[in-house]
Amino acid sequence: MELNDRQEKILKIVKQHGPITGRKIAEQLSLTRATLRPDLAILTMSGYLDARPRVGYFYTGKETEEVMSSKIRNIIVSDVQSVPILIKKETSIYEAIVTMFLEDVGTLYAIDESNGLAGVISRKDLLRGTMGNNDIEKTPVSVIMTRKPGITICYPNDLLIYAANQLIEKQIDSLPVIEEQEGVEVVIGRITKTNIARVFVNLME
Ligand code: ADP
Repeated sequence: MELNDRQEKILKIVKQHGPITGRKIAEQLSLTRATLRPDLAILTMSGYLDARPRVGYFYTGKETEEVMSSKIRNIIVSDVQSVPILIKKETSIYEAIVTMFLEDVGTLYAIDESNGLAGVISRKDLLRGTMGNNDIEKTPVSVIMTRKPGITICYPNDLLIYAANQLIEKQIDSLPVIEEQEGVEVVIGRITKTNIARVFVNLME
């Protein structure tokens, strides 16, 4: 988040003179207390300033990077997850390739009869499945998918930073987001490298 000119000025005053009351900050800027209120609210909500009753505003000592990183640490998977593309594990490799193109995704998730997660199918899995295979319309994706228990998953309440770490550690592009429904691991979302890149861009903007 970028601070506007007035917020930068407030920050400077509080750094030099804090703890300082809102009234005194307003005096120094020749503005009314009411005009400053939204800026002070933004500065306290984003963690730059703290306010104590009868004492006033003081600088928390957080630099921009620290504020950013504390914001990133508070984001959870459900804040940024996107829609998963699910196919039955009996779907043919051919159909899976068509689905991947139509849905414009890099990973598909295969589900079993009870709609639970059964496997992960990536682009390379599909390439591997087509090499030397003349029968991709008949071969089910269950033959080439990565299956349980080898699947790395995450839950809606996990921290995004945890999911990001898993993507790096396991060298994979996405994680299925799972919700247990009556003992079945239902895929309710997916976290991809794109989701994570978008968070960074949004924070910077
Ligand atoms: P690509 O194959 O396009 O490079 P990935 O890096 O995501 O995409 O996949 C590499 C391998 O890891 C594939 O065999 C895929 O099935 C597997 N894989 C992908 N996501 C997961 C996951 N969440 N858990 C376990 N294995 C995965």
